[in-house]
Amino acid sequence: MQILPGIAVSPGVAIGEALVIDNEGFRIPRRFVARDAVDDELERLAAAIAAVEAQIGRDRDTITTKLGSQYGAIFSAHLTLLGDPKLREELAQMVRERHYSPEYAVTRTLRRYAKTFQSLDNAYLAERAVDLFDIEKHLLRNLTGRRRGELAHLVSPVIVLAHALTPSETANLDRRYVLGFATEVGGAGSHTAIVAQGLEIPALVGIGPFLSDIAGGDVVIVDGDHGQIVVQPDQDTLDRYHHEREQHQTLSMRLRELRDLSAQTADGQRIELLGNIEFPHEVEQCKQHGSDGIGLYRTEFLYLGAETEPTEEDHYRAYASVVEQIGSRPVVIRTLDLGADKMAHLPLPQDETNPVLGLRSIRLSLRNVPLFRKQLRAVLRASAVGDVRVMFPMITTVTELRQAKMVLSDVMEDLDEAGVPFNRDIPVGMMVEVPAAVILIDRFLEEVEFISIGTNDLIQYTLAVDRGNRDVASLYNPGDPAVLRLIRMAIVAAIGAGKSVNVCGQMSSNPFYTMLLIGLGLRRMSATPSAIPEVKKVCRSVTVQQCEQLAQRVMSLDSARDVTTCVREELKKVVPEFVV
Ligand code: PEP
Ligand code: MG
Repeated sequence: MQILPGIAVSPGVAIGEALVIDNEGFRIPRRFVARDAVDDELERLAAAIAAVEAQIGRDRDTITTKLGSQYGAIFSAHLTLLGDPKLREELAQMVRERHYSPEYAVTRTLRRYAKTFQSLDNAYLAERAVDLFDIEKHLLRNLTGRRRGELAHLVSPVIVLAHALTPSETANLDRRYVLGFATEVGGAGSHTAIVAQGLEIPALVGIGPFLSDIAGGDVVIVDGDHGQIVVQPDQDTLDRYHHEREQHQTLSMRLRELRDLSAQTADGQRIELLGNIEFPHEVEQCKQHGSDGIGLYRTEFLYLGAETEPTEEDHYRAYASVVEQIGSRPVVIRTLDLGADKMAHLPLPQDETNPVLGLRSIRLSLRNVPLFRKQLRAVLRASAVGDVRVMFPMITTVTELRQAKMVLSDVMEDLDEAGVPFNRDIPVGMMVEVPAAVILIDRFLEEVEFISIGTNDLIQYTLAVDRGNRDVASLYNPGDPAVLRLIRMAIVAAIGAGKSVNVCGQMSSNPFYTMLLIGLGLRRMSATPSAIPEVKKVCRSVTVQQCEQLAQRVMSLDSARDVTTCVREELKKVVPEFVV
């Protein structure tokens, strides 16, 4: 039995067999294939070699046309290496006779060749090692690509273990069969983590290198409550976790009873609880968990995983579907927040040194006005169907906000001219997720009807800590006093200006912070649908005065650690079952 700590990003306990997803850029574990699968695996290897050969041939032709035959020759050298009958036979032999997986055979053989080249006292040949690494990468990408394909065709329950999962890969996990997942990299604020919560499956990220010790089929427990995975658990541990899983189920059944009750504090203060979604089908989850509407629709997920760029009709259909499902309740549609870890098949910058500080989000939309207009047309058309509000992400300067509003007005004019119905008074809001937006909040509030505080990015930009980096994950803390001051500033300013204020970052999804947020003056929160019942439970168990007293105490503290202790003590008195 082995216990590995990680960063818990989605609660609950999952127990099942491991499915290890390989990836380029890390060591492929030594894995064996079953005797009766050898022929299939040999075929898989041959198909990968053929596909890579064809790809390199195409690259050679393109580069020869564009730059000349001397550059094309680089690829010819790759083809010669890959075509070497001795190399091919060695690869096949490792699968046929030693029963290694094709991935392991490729990585082992090509690295051995490369090492031999590097050790020669010949600079030219030593450099050829790079070509071998390149071929290795090509082959692995092809082979593991097929494995990822397999992920889409699961037929039995598994725990997915991977080096990394992108947000779109996570979003496409089949909830019927994926019981939970764990990754080597990633931080608590990553979009992969957020999507995992949406899927309502226990998940852990940032475990560090561990895949090489695990074989597919090993029994694994993902403990999303305590932040650890257990590999090959002993019987006692298994029994304990089975019991814990049952307790979880009982608690969620109890919480389900709150569904049709409002989120009202014990002294009668109504709290509006909205849901965050990435896809239209998640509206159903919001309804099941009793949300008051959609507080954040992350529309960029329409682009993630899509083969081609969505059309205006694709946008419209998605938005109209959300609006129709939610009925008369509000839907806040956030315009595209692409870039950084949310990449799509678009002309996005590929080689930025600091992608989270780069051309992302509203900056990207303002540089691609036709794309932005297309989305805004669809949002406006959807506003004719229900209570749609539009929100711009990552606003940093007032100029940027005005430019975005200008494009919106332009699109309104076009629709007017074409006689297309829309709500001319559509409420316009902005995300407050960059410290600059808080510092200048009074000016921003003059320009918008509402603000929504994005704590995920606000923490990242305030504390200079990458939300997806496991090595600095301990610094990424919503309870940091600097972050709390910014949140309070934004809430106080919005209330003072008579504008609506929401928190739609993950802080709202964590019942641990519900009291504190109410105490800071917040009356509207938008959370991952599955978190709504727990947050509602806290709301219904406290009084505003209790929350304000807690906030007052917390705001006098100067470390995230003290804040956590103080909040935990208070929460323990109110809803002890939520304090792990
Ligand atoms: C945030 O930054 O808090 C937020 C809600 O946006 P996202 O997580 O999509 O960056
Ligand atoms: Mg954000």
